[in-house]
This record gives sequence, structure tokens and C-alpha cells, in this order.
Amino acid sequence: MLEKESHVLLTVNHWTVNHSNWRSHSGTCFVAGPGQLSFKRFTAVFAVALLVSVGLPPLCDCSRAGEVGNKSTREKVQTPTNVEKPKTTTLSLRGRVVWMAEALERRFGIQTVPEVAEQMLALETPGGELHPIVEDVRGRSFRKDQRLRKLDVELLARRYEGSPMIRVIRIYAWKEEGKFELDYWCDICAISMYETGPCDCCQEPNRLRQRQVESP
Ligand SMILES: [Zn+2]
Repeated sequence: MLEKESHVLLTVNHWTVNHSNWRSHSGTCFVAGPGQLSFKRFTAVFAVALLVSVGLPPLCDCSRAGEVGNKSTREKVQTPTNVEKPKTTTLSLRGRVVWMAEALERRFGIQTVPEVAEQMLALETPGGELHPIVEDVRGRSFRKDQRLRKLDVELLARRYEGSPMIRVIRIYAWKEEGKFELDYWCDICAISMYETGPCDCCQEPNRLRQRQVESP
């Protein structure tokens, strides 16, 4: 009866005690047969049960108790696979790429400080909407090559839920002859790039490539 009560007290705190072999706090190991409970064992079990009942940290060095505790902790930890992917919308937007500061002043009379004059690019639609552009290497191509800012463009872009920024996926230009896909090309290496400048491979200047994809 005493043994059963002690067992209940111990397992409430996720402890498991081997009832045949048990190590006391002093390191003395003793054995008791089924149904037997020596005075020394009872004293040790009672001491641990008392500590547990008053909320003190366990003193027992039982490895099985540690395993149970660790397992319980592991179950509460969320793995990175539980992280949700950002929700995105893919869209095609037509217009011209402009400096946001200039467009804010022209459209709304908002004056910004001089140092942000060329800080942010935006796509301005014919209807006057301004879509700020993420400046990764595709977005930066409009900063590096002013020719792109003089074209009527169509951007295939991605917008992330919760952000007003658009991320450029593909750049097209609309001309009288039709729709052209734009990128940069090295004739020597036969490779395409996102930005104007020296070829990634041979370092010779690349050229703006315009490939027609639609008729007018
Ligand atoms: Zn090259």
C-alpha cells in the first residue's frame, strides 16, 4: 500500500522508478523483491515523494527520469517545417518605371528630402497608381540603365501578402512593333544577365537584348 502510494506520487511528475532496483541519494543501491519494502527503501522513496510534493527539483540521478523529461520537452518544440510559406500574388502591370520621390511630388505634391530622390523605384501605371519595386538584381536594372525608364513596360511581378512592394520577375517593353522581352546578353559567352554592365563571364560589356514575343 505504501509502495503504491509512492509510485503514484512519483509518476505524477513524469518520473519512473524501477521498483526492483533503486539508487538512493547517497549512491547506495539496494534490491527489494516484489511485495517487499525495506525500511531504508521506504525512507528514500518517501523523501523523494516529499520533495516532489513541495515542488523542489528532483535530486535523483535516475537516467530514465531524464529521458521522460527530455521527450516531453521535445514534443513542445516546433520544427521549421511548420513555418508557413509567404502568400504571394503574381500580376502583370503596365506603365513606366519612375523614381518614387519624383512621382510623389508630381502626383500628390509631397516633397521629400533630397537624399531620397533616387532611393526607391516604382512602377507608375497609366491610371496613376504607384507600385514600389523591390530592388533585387532585376529591380536594380532600372536604376543602372536609364533606357529602361524611358520605355512603356509590362512587368510580370510578385507581391507578398502584407507588403506593397512588387518584385520583378520578367520585363517586357511595349512598342509599335509589339511586345518584347528584355534582358542583357553577351554575344561572346552566349549567356543572359539581368543588368547592364560587364559580362559575368568574360567581363566584356553586355548588350540590351529585346526579343519580340507578341505582335501588336
Ligand atoms: Zn561574356
